[in-house]
Amino acid sequence: MSARDPVADLRRIAFLLERANEATYRVRAFRSAATALAALPAAEVAERTRAGTLTDLPGVGDVTARCVTESLAGEEPVYLRRLVATEGVDLDEAAGALRAALRGDCHTHSDWSDGGSPIEEMALAAVELGHEYVVLTDHSPRLTVARGLTADRLRRQLDHVAAVNAALPEGFRILTGIEVDILADGTLDQDEELLARLDVVVGSVHSGLRDERARMTRRMLTAIANPHLDILGHCTGRMVSSRPAGVTGPGDKGHRARTRAESDFDADAVFAACAEHDVAVEINSRPERQDPPKRLIRRALEAGCRFAIDTDAHAPGQLDWQRFGCVRAALCGVPADRVVNTWPADRLLDWTRARASG
Ligand SMILES: [Zn+2]
Ligand SMILES: [Zn+2]
Repeated sequence: MSARDPVADLRRIAFLLERANEATYRVRAFRSAATALAALPAAEVAERTRAGTLTDLPGVGDVTARCVTESLAGEEPVYLRRLVATEGVDLDEAAGALRAALRGDCHTHSDWSDGGSPIEEMALAAVELGHEYVVLTDHSPRLTVARGLTADRLRRQLDHVAAVNAALPEGFRILTGIEVDILADGTLDQDEELLARLDVVVGSVHSGLRDERARMTRRMLTAIANPHLDILGHCTGRMVSSRPAGVTGPGDKGHRARTRAESDFDADAVFAACAEHDVAVEINSRPERQDPPKRLIRRALEAGCRFAIDTDAHAPGQLDWQRFGCVRAALCGVPADRVVNTWPADRLLDWTRARASG
């Protein structure tokens, strides 16, 4: 016999989700599972848990089944533990503290790819926000719709950044980088020699977002094992809403307004690989992305991953969107010491170099 009641745990999770104003369908998922299990004899629930057939029951999915399994093993379900950990925390305060701890932004675009402003303007806006650095991560060659940079253009950009840096205020610098496409086979869309030269490499899936689960998982695992990859960008590729008012027009061509379902992949395998290879999981702050969703941020946190809270800014004003990412991170209980862009630039560079040589 277990010391815990799985039905009570599911109901408690539903209550806490509801109080935290989470999506209704998520709350309902836990209540439906609780109702389905409450109707069965305890012995049958235990037997189905052993046999792994809980999800055959209507209303019981993978996440709720996992909670029941943990609960019957006498453990507080991970999902519940995370919710309890952030219960009663003043969110504004927690999000504000996280935002105050950020020293830079590791994912930004300029008009060299699909951004709307020159590198200089993005840098000056970042200085005004109080950042110590901003990583310039324009797109890679295959993303032609976003004017992805060929190897030659990227080399020219590196020279240009060096010149701009020389003219910027003391104590601030632009770090070099790329948002490199994770190609269909998991390889990265830029020359190896260039990836090695860049300060920070963000890798994102922009094509084949509907790949079937096993294929997408393999693709992501291959990219994560690449020693040049530092940060896994907007990992599900979802689009949750049309862009907010005032965020339209040129300079944002790569992020058209539409909704899009999450890519399907084995999140536990992907986050375990990120933890193993020390790749940070991006918390993308764009209002229409909000990627990863909170349930996946919680799983990545549980897996031991680091994070980068980035804006993916395509215009100077968007550099201030980090607070959106901070609110989501705070809701999931992400501590500042797990966030790589709370580090000074030198420590960030030590980390990316250690990764590249390890
Ligand atoms: Zn992207
Ligand atoms: Zn981007």
